Amino acid sequence: MAIATVNPTTGSTEMIIESHSAEEVQARIAEAAEAARLLRGTTFAQRAAWMLAAADSLEGQAEGLGELITVEMGKPIAQSVAEVHKCVKAMRFYAAEAEGFLADAPLADPSSVGASRAWTRYEPLGTVLAVMPWNYPLWQVIRFAAPALMAGNSGLLKHASNVPQAALFLDTLFERAGFPAGSFRTLLIGGSEVGSVLADARVKAVTLTGSEPAGRSVASIAADHVKKSVLELGGSDPFIVMPSADVAAAAATAVRARISNNGQSCIAGKRFIVHAEVYDAFAAEFAKLMSELVVGDPLDPATQVGPLATASGRDELAELVEDARALGAQVLTGGTAPERPGFFYAPTVLAGLTEEMRIIQEETFGPVASLYRATDREDALRIANQTTFGLSSSVWTSDALEEEWFTGNLDAGAVFINGMTVSYQELPFGGIKRSGFGRELAADGIREFCNLKTVWKA
Ligand code: NAP
Repeated sequence: MAIATVNPTTGSTEMIIESHSAEEVQARIAEAAEAARLLRGTTFAQRAAWMLAAADSLEGQAEGLGELITVEMGKPIAQSVAEVHKCVKAMRFYAAEAEGFLADAPLADPSSVGASRAWTRYEPLGTVLAVMPWNYPLWQVIRFAAPALMAGNSGLLKHASNVPQAALFLDTLFERAGFPAGSFRTLLIGGSEVGSVLADARVKAVTLTGSEPAGRSVASIAADHVKKSVLELGGSDPFIVMPSADVAAAAATAVRARISNNGQSCIAGKRFIVHAEVYDAFAAEFAKLMSELVVGDPLDPATQVGPLATASGRDELAELVEDARALGAQVLTGGTAPERPGFFYAPTVLAGLTEEMRIIQEETFGPVASLYRATDREDALRIANQTTFGLSSSVWTSDALEEEWFTGNLDAGAVFINGMTVSYQELPFGGIKRSGFGRELAADGIREFCNLKTVWKA
């Protein structure tokens, strides 16, 4: 089987790479298992030195890697370069913090359990498989790899099939910085081969970032083998605007929240729920700003919205819009795929949505925003929570009671107040409901793939 890089800006195939044979996959699993054994015997200081060297190496290649990301999946070049720098920050963060996050914790009163001493310690699990998506081809991987390696695990990466060049770059990044050979290995395989890798006794756990069907399939295979899984799945995040908000600031941020990464972000604001008192003002400003966006070649620094990553992604998005339009939705701007090569879709704002439209429940993975008019805060909350997803949320208000009320009642893994959702290495990241389970980033992320061992001494 071959894996191809198709440039989404032109639609043409840039490179074809042979996928790994069954023998190569076996060899890579063996290497990763041996590396896990070696890593377990290294100190935090040693791993931190290697991680910092890998971060320096990444930083030195930021411009070239940015271009690679843009050519492979189409995000505007400035965002691709920023993604590389974000990875560098997270690697330095875990190099500095891992030891503290995983420090032994003594029980204050060991006599309460009849011990002279009792404590907990975090130990690595071994080799962890990461199944990753294409939308942040480096960041999604690094936010797993940096904590996993700092904890003393090794990693196997099954990357999305449309970003093989990013996958191959990551294959050697850590080894070049000094980590034992096999500490992090890419498997160029299809989704259907993930099950046999996960079934292998040398692979101890799995993390998947991607769609709900992929998550369901991988988590059920993990369950069959009684292995730990972390799932970071889709989102249809609400972005709520109340009358006390700065409506102009909310509209400007709403545009950034919706079109960042060409609209292909799990934590993008996707459903804009606006109180009736400010709905008309918000809708007019939002639709105007969305219509003014510069759509074009993502390598051109002036471009704000590039193509979608794949033809199928663009077609699925167009189908959701057509379904809504056919059932009576109003298209305030956009609603078409421009006549040009590549996988482009115009920034779009839809209003007048009703329950029977698919867009109410399905994730719009592209620059398409849905507008909802809420009669009061209860109605805004009802609309916000009427999704099967629960990743993040954004609330715009200057009323302290309202802020607390939404924070306490939104079914989501995060609430951002008067700002758009962003991932930070200092804050835990993850969802509830069908957005998945488990957490990445911060202390919680590094602890996911550790054995919390209890030690009791008479
Ligand atoms: P996807 O189709 O689920 O692909 C994600 C990864 O899973 C790819 O490596 C894919 O490999 C693999 N895969 C797909 N089906 C599989 C199966 N049945 N068994 C094993 N592996 C399988 O997702 P996508 O459409 O590329 O990515 C977009 C989705 O990811 C959106 O829903 C988005 O919201 C979500 N996402 C979530 C987060 C988060 O942190 N919560 C972050 C980013 C994206 P192939 O490419 O070979 O099919």
